[in-house]
Amino acid sequence: MPHKHIKRASSKSGAGGEPGGTVAEEGGSRKPRTASGPDAAPGLVTVAPGQASGGSAFDLSAVDADADGGLDKAAAKEALIVERARIVSLQERLYAERARSLLVVFQAIDTGGKDGTIRAVFEGVNPQGCRVWPFKVPSAEEAAHDFLWRYHARTPGRGIIGVFNRSHYEDVLVVRVKGLVPEPVWRARYGQINDFERMLVAEGTTILKFFLHISKDEQKERLEARIATPEKHWKFDPADLVERKSWDAYQAAFSDALTRCSTPHAPWHVVPANRKWFRNLLVARTIADTLEAMDPRFPQANGDIAGMRVPD
Ligand code: AMP
Ligand code: MG
Repeated sequence: MPHKHIKRASSKSGAGGEPGGTVAEEGGSRKPRTASGPDAAPGLVTVAPGQASGGSAFDLSAVDADADGGLDKAAAKEALIVERARIVSLQERLYAERARSLLVVFQAIDTGGKDGTIRAVFEGVNPQGCRVWPFKVPSAEEAAHDFLWRYHARTPGRGIIGVFNRSHYEDVLVVRVKGLVPEPVWRARYGQINDFERMLVAEGTTILKFFLHISKDEQKERLEARIATPEKHWKFDPADLVERKSWDAYQAAFSDALTRCSTPHAPWHVVPANRKWFRNLLVARTIADTLEAMDPRFPQANGDIAGMRVPD
């Protein structure tokens, strides 16, 4: 495979860009961290909630998709192994506890790395406690319902980690860019999404939303790699070349969704994603930190199990 990113000297450590007061920059100490708190994984850009009501719009173009947190690939890969082990052990507790759930949402432009991130981050997780749902063009039955219907049917039950590869956000992204419904219909959806997510959180679901941010040049390289590599042809969709022409409209739609739907109960996290190894580490660390903050516990044993004898 052709290779691309020669590691550059990083002018600043960790930051994914400084979009003039429109984001809560993360940084600082390593432990303890929560995903949306001031100690979140360095490099992650958490969209400050409340910008929709009067604040300036979140400026996605100010986030450096090349950011690498000052790490190199080998160190990031080592660190990913540690974060994955944390996820695996915390997931076991979540599954045993059967009281709460975690919903992890991935959005990105075509080739943004949603599939690769899911593969890298959830490796080793007990498949029984994890459900991954990719959302494609709605079926006739799905399209006959309200836009949230198909997503709500797949939100994770108690004890489960649910992963949305694309999500209800497509209904304010591709739907908006392609004009699939009239503007007043998609405009109303930002508030409907916030209400939906608020209800899920109130009912025991923690929501983590990751926007994987790549640059336009990076998308070109990834599309070219798919064309040049026979083993990647199955991933190549000629429609992606058409969608690429709407790059600016997608960036505007992403910025609006990040601005309007980053809420205190379900903030958006922007992940610099040109470097896959940094992207994977940031996502894994944030999931591990979030599970740790949830602090799932093994349930109390029913009676004195330790004193029991197994009959011959
Ligand atoms: P992929 O994820 O690359 O397999 O492609 C799935 C395709 O489904 C993408 O082109 C999405 O834009 C499209 N898609 C997903 N959700 C919706 C939706 N709600 N309405 C229209 N198209 C969608
Ligand atoms: Mg595709």
